[in-house]
Amino acid sequence: MAPPVFHPKGERPPRRPLGIYLQILLGFGGFTLVTVVLLWVFQIALLGPFYQLIKTDQVENTAESVLRQLDQPQEELSQAVEDLCYDTQISILVSDENGRLLAGSFASEKQSPLRAALSQGGLSSQVMLSQLYNDVNLQGGRLEETFPLGQGDSSPQVMLYGRIQRNSSGQARMVLMESEITPVGSTVETLKVQLLCLTGVMVVLGLLLALFIARRIARPIAAINQAAKQLGQGNYAISLEESGTREVTELAQTLNYAAGELSKVDEMRRELLANVSHDLRTPLTMIKGYSEVMRDLPGENTPENVQIIIDETERLTSLVNDLLDLSRLEAGAVPLKKSRFNLTESIRRALTRYEKLADYSFPFYADRDVFVTADQLRISQVVCNLVNNAITYTGSDKTVTLRQTVNDGMVRVSVTDTGEGIPPEKLRDIWERYYKVDKDHKRAQMGTGLGLSIVKNVMDLHGGRCGVESQLGTGSTFWFELPLTGE
Ligand code: ADP
Repeated sequence: MAPPVFHPKGERPPRRPLGIYLQILLGFGGFTLVTVVLLWVFQIALLGPFYQLIKTDQVENTAESVLRQLDQPQEELSQAVEDLCYDTQISILVSDENGRLLAGSFASEKQSPLRAALSQGGLSSQVMLSQLYNDVNLQGGRLEETFPLGQGDSSPQVMLYGRIQRNSSGQARMVLMESEITPVGSTVETLKVQLLCLTGVMVVLGLLLALFIARRIARPIAAINQAAKQLGQGNYAISLEESGTREVTELAQTLNYAAGELSKVDEMRRELLANVSHDLRTPLTMIKGYSEVMRDLPGENTPENVQIIIDETERLTSLVNDLLDLSRLEAGAVPLKKSRFNLTESIRRALTRYEKLADYSFPFYADRDVFVTADQLRISQVVCNLVNNAITYTGSDKTVTLRQTVNDGMVRVSVTDTGEGIPPEKLRDIWERYYKVDKDHKRAQMGTGLGLSIVKNVMDLHGGRCGVESQLGTGSTFWFELPLTGE
């Protein structure tokens, strides 16, 4: 169930946007509709006017070509007219103002109004042409007329086009042209049938394609959406199929990763609660138990028992301190008190604290004393955390070796133990808060899982680095690096 959404009183809730499935379907539907309408408009409604326009244009261009040849000798003019007529299938006649034919060519053998008018030949054809000349002249030297050849809508039409122009010697010439305009009606009918089929095919294809794409995109997104809702409700046990388009696959991968990390954090949080309550309860029980014994039983008020109470109190204090330290470090609320100090000397001093652990040895190899600029207290805390861990996990030889090496302006301090080592797959996680490799391990139960997180946070704040090399059965070497400051 989706989490409830509340809106302030009186405000209308925002409109729910359309689902991706519907949007894709509508998008494709709209696209198909527009394409089909455009096809119909251009192919059916505008076909006639387009054809007429193209024809007129062609006739005008041909007339221009003939007019350019008017100064040519008659044979050449005749040849040019014949060629043009052959190329364009437009009948062309050129006459003078008295109707005398200078050149002429008919596009086809078919009967046409012009041919009929001139067919009588001789004088009457000259009379016809001179009459036409007068008609064109009256129209201002340009005539354009279209008339049907027969009766009915399907009969072809003829366009008669005339132009009068003077040649360079000042003689008036008339160019008369006749072009047949085939009716587009039957073509339109054929196209209509074709378009009907095409419309059907396009609608079906568009629908199928839309369904296919919608399924391919919308389905995984819907699944991811569901999974994200579950994540929001704290159910981290989700596993999304990482397939489909690239973005969807990446989204699924990211969510799977986020779910994994969230569940890890969640598990750690639970463990911490269990650990902290356990860690707090154990010393408290001890303190209470010993105090009661000392109160109730005469003779039990011994320095050893008091020491146990003091030790347990110290454990409690260090646990609470660790918790506070880490939360303050992570919140960035700890101002570093940086100063230049002798790191080698400060490590030596830190190691003196462990002198009372008589059966452990802490060899420290450093070829010279080095100086760093850092928060001395925090760096000592880092050294102690690493040494404490090494003591906890080292092997039966009870040796914890420290080494200081200088390289490229950086000093590296490493702490090596001879313990069981850490499995390679856990090496990344141990730096996480509250993480413990083996929770059931007796030694691990003593720690809080915070020590290494504190080390990492302190190093990050100092711009230093830290890391670990470990081999199962041989031991581990934890190290940190800081930039050197000149002596
Ligand atoms: P803890 O208080 O449990 O020691 P840390 O953050 O210091 O917490 O360490 C996290 C985990 O890393 C430990 O629980 C342990 O499993 C592992 N670890 C740390 N140091 C060592 C080491 N020197 N040898 C083996 N395991 C180690």
